[in-house]
Amino acid sequence: MNTPTFASLGLAAPIANALNQLGYKTPTPIQSRALPLLIQGQDLLGIAQTGTGKTAAFSLPILHSIQVQGLRAAKARPLALILAPTRELAIQIHEDVQRYSAETSIRTTCIFGGANQHPQVRRLAKGVEILVATPGRLMDLEAQGHLALDAVQHFVLDEADRLLDMGFIGDIRKIEASLPSNRQTALFSATMSKEIRSLADFLLHDPQEIKVTPKQVTVEKIAQFQLRIANEHKQAALEQMLKQDDVRKVIVFTRTKHASERITKKLLKAGFSANAINGNKSQNARAKALDRFKRGTDWILVATDVAARGIDIQGISHVINFELPQEPENYVHRIGRTARAGSTGVADRKSTRLNSSHQIISYAVFCLKKK
Ligand code: AMP
Repeated sequence: MNTPTFASLGLAAPIANALNQLGYKTPTPIQSRALPLLIQGQDLLGIAQTGTGKTAAFSLPILHSIQVQGLRAAKARPLALILAPTRELAIQIHEDVQRYSAETSIRTTCIFGGANQHPQVRRLAKGVEILVATPGRLMDLEAQGHLALDAVQHFVLDEADRLLDMGFIGDIRKIEASLPSNRQTALFSATMSKEIRSLADFLLHDPQEIKVTPKQVTVEKIAQFQLRIANEHKQAALEQMLKQDDVRKVIVFTRTKHASERITKKLLKAGFSANAINGNKSQNARAKALDRFKRGTDWILVATDVAARGIDIQGISHVINFELPQEPENYVHRIGRTARAGSTGVADRKSTRLNSSHQIISYAVFCLKKK
């Protein structure tokens, strides 16, 4: 079977051109399956993680539909709503959509809590076709009358499992009640569960289902190791690891906000250029930390799971699990920060029961070597 190209999927020319400019040559598996279904107007349940190209899979059909119909949103009445669990993910989706729509006149904005609402309100008031939002701020601005959802034709829930984990189910139901019933809905989740199934039953109408298997991606592309270290020697071991030549761009994961701050302080004291990202930081501080990391000003990011979930940053050479995650899936999400589209490596992982005075630092290395 021939792999479809973006052109053969029939995307409007300005969107196909933008993809070309970005160097996207062929659709990823989730894209080649989801794009035709969504372009036809079907509802979709997609089981896929970050790194599979799912953002383009749900946003390209929305852009295509708005572009070919020449639609223009009324003030404060977006035509498409993309809901994401965290500010970081919302910002990232927004940036991706802006890239894909660079050659169109489609307007996009992003709203999230922890930041001044006025600039967000001003942008909404001018009119945007596509709105990317976290649930709390969305409901807040809607309640204040700065936004209405009655023109939404496309509704996407990204990382629905994380939205549920974070307790947003009530908000999702309320938001759904503000949307027109004849909209198109796509729900993406990294994992399938009873809760996701029942959310899908509630939100989706006669959906198509697509599942891509990212766990294989993890196994194929990432070399994984673990070190057994007495608790009190962990920081020294971390610093030792960071001095290795091949450690170029690193995320260090912790379980708690407090630990991420503590480790960062010690790293700074030891002369490393590190920054922490966690839920205690202001939106502005989080955005700055991410930006410095993306640009390479800082090469170490110390993060909690919630803060780092879904973040897509190119060129991360190592992920260090200074503290192992509580939930096994988070391990996969964490180490998935390394292997991004198109490169390969090797994998190996053992699990060992340890006595309580020892802890594991596990680390994942993204091998840049081609097979
Ligand atoms: P996502 O799973 O949406 O976070 O995407 C993961 C990464 O893959 C992002 O950096 C995208 O820019 C990139 N990407 C998405 N689709 C393609 C494609 N068809 N070809 C190359 N890169 C892609």
